[in-house]
Amino acid sequence: MKKMKRHEFGRTGLRVSRFGLGCMRFPSEEKEAVGIVRRAIEAGVNYLDTAYVYGNSEVVTGKALRDGYRKRVVLATKSPLWSIDAPADFEKYLDEELARLRTDYIDIYLLHNLNPGNWDKVRRLDGFTFLDKMVAKGKILHKGFSLHNTLAAFKEIITAFAWDMTQIQLNILDEYNQVGIEGLRYAAARNVPVVIMEPLRGGFLAAQAPPAVAALTEAFPVRRSLVEWCFRWLYDMPEVSVILSGVSSPAQLEDNLSIFSSEEAHSMTAEERELIRRIQAEFGRQKSVGCTACGYCLPCPSGVDIPEVFKLYNSYQLVKPNPTDVFMYKNTLMPTGAAADRCTNCGKCAELCPQGLATPELLSEAHREFLQARMP
Ligand code: SF4
Ligand code: SF4
Repeated sequence: MKKMKRHEFGRTGLRVSRFGLGCMRFPSEEKEAVGIVRRAIEAGVNYLDTAYVYGNSEVVTGKALRDGYRKRVVLATKSPLWSIDAPADFEKYLDEELARLRTDYIDIYLLHNLNPGNWDKVRRLDGFTFLDKMVAKGKILHKGFSLHNTLAAFKEIITAFAWDMTQIQLNILDEYNQVGIEGLRYAAARNVPVVIMEPLRGGFLAAQAPPAVAALTEAFPVRRSLVEWCFRWLYDMPEVSVILSGVSSPAQLEDNLSIFSSEEAHSMTAEERELIRRIQAEFGRQKSVGCTACGYCLPCPSGVDIPEVFKLYNSYQLVKPNPTDVFMYKNTLMPTGAAADRCTNCGKCAELCPQGLATPELLSEAHREFLQARMP
């Protein structure tokens, strides 16, 4: 396996690997998660991304970075804007994150999931002054933001402050969705490096591809997995600085390391680009809900397991009629009170969904289809 290359990261002076380890989807076994982080670092990955709201991710990452690993990485984490109600809260949460991560400084500190609603809050509570003060104190080295929102919101936010980086969602299905390619180029033209999240739409792209997509990749002269094609499409673009992959197992890490060992911009042929266009078209024919299973909408006050309902629903759409999905919905989710029939339409989940999904309506549609589906 080739040595992983390092690339300049905008104006920060940092040099980073194209493969960034997303620490959001660690396995539940702590020892295994620590092993994944350390193996990734040994293999040349030097960008780690976590957040206050990713369960116990910061704590586990902090443990993994003991024994000298901390100084080998660029560590990024995020401010939990949801919980900030007063200017002093910003530093209070940052101090808690420093303790969780067992470090004195964060290389890149992001305001998490900016959108027009909390953007007003950041300005009202003087979030910019907080970031500048923390740089002066040495608690953070560089300032950034992540966003799942419109291109217009992105352009407003990125031009309003001297950001050192930004993090956006991009994958073959979101080329023209959310910030999209246009936003990527907008940031890169301002020398603001872009970190990509959800390169596989929370695993959806790999796990729930229609059979026609598998037929396309299998018929192509160069045999690569759909996961590899998705990553290649991203690292082909020189504007993409880091691609986060939320690794959940050692095997997945090894697969990712192998894929990124040949990462290179401008490396796709015309035939390969045409293959991606055909894959995009096949997904476009598919009826599915664009849920990334991020869990931001949970817990639902009525107990609905929203991402699980959508996962079953998307799987059901792939191979209709798929009795397993119908069985799981009717005999597992419904009896345990986690199905969509418990939804009271309070709207809380739709407000929190970074993908902008009309969740109550989609849940209702999923429930109706599952009830109408016949089981053998
Ligand atoms: S709209 Fe329904 S699913 Fe969403 S949070 Fe409210 S009760 Fe739960
Ligand atoms: S419905 Fe939205 S917020 Fe909930 S898990 Fe899916 S993508 Fe995340």
